[in-house]
Amino acid sequence: MTIDQAQLLRTYAEAAETAHQALTALDQISGDGDFGDNLREGLRWTVAALDARPQEPAMAVAGSVFLDKVGGTSGPLIGLLLSAISRALTDASDEREGWATGVREGLAAIQRVGEAEPGDRTMVDALVPARDALDAGASYADGARAALAGAAATADIRARRGRASYVGDRALGTPDPGATGIALLFWALARVAEPDSGLGEVNELVPVPGKAG
Ligand code: ADP
Ligand code: MG
Repeated sequence: MTIDQAQLLRTYAEAAETAHQALTALDQISGDGDFGDNLREGLRWTVAALDARPQEPAMAVAGSVFLDKVGGTSGPLIGLLLSAISRALTDASDEREGWATGVREGLAAIQRVGEAEPGDRTMVDALVPARDALDAGASYADGARAALAGAAATADIRARRGRASYVGDRALGTPDPGATGIALLFWALARVAEPDSGLGEVNELVPVPGKAG
């Protein structure tokens, strides 16, 4: 099958709308509170750019929107990831291999620029398990489950990178916003590629901290 990149990005944009309150609250706890806005704005601009330029490769459009326009530490890093995925999908003869390569190379670019290691409580902690799952030939849904589990596990990590490193133990017990937001990319991929895989809904997977359920 060929995964419709524009549909995937629109699904990711809807997920970011649904999760906006939770992502904002997570970044209020461990950062400055703008991550939900950054991701939602970036994906709103992406959808607008896709509407305006439907003939261009969607993932490349998204990559340049995030690289050129989106603020915060996360904007350019997500731009590097989406651009790497776009390049790999263009070059690959096998789509699944293209996704594995794109995530691997996007993660490498994020680590080159941001210098975060696994366990630093950043988006790297969602990307490493997703990369490993896709490299091992897992389904897209299992890739998403790995990313979501990696993001959830950041709740137990004291940050060494990014703003969360300034707040000490205050963020312990809640997951990293960036890792959570990146896991939703893999959720959207699985939703589009494997709609019957039984992944939960965004509001269940990314609850607002402090709210029951
Ligand atoms: P800012 O901290 O500048 O406000 P955002 O709120 O947009 O940036 O994004 C915060 C997220 O960025 C964090 O939750 C974390 O996942 C990610 N992040 C921060 N620093 C790094 C880094 N060096 N490498 C990878 N990801 C990082
Ligand atoms: Mg922030």
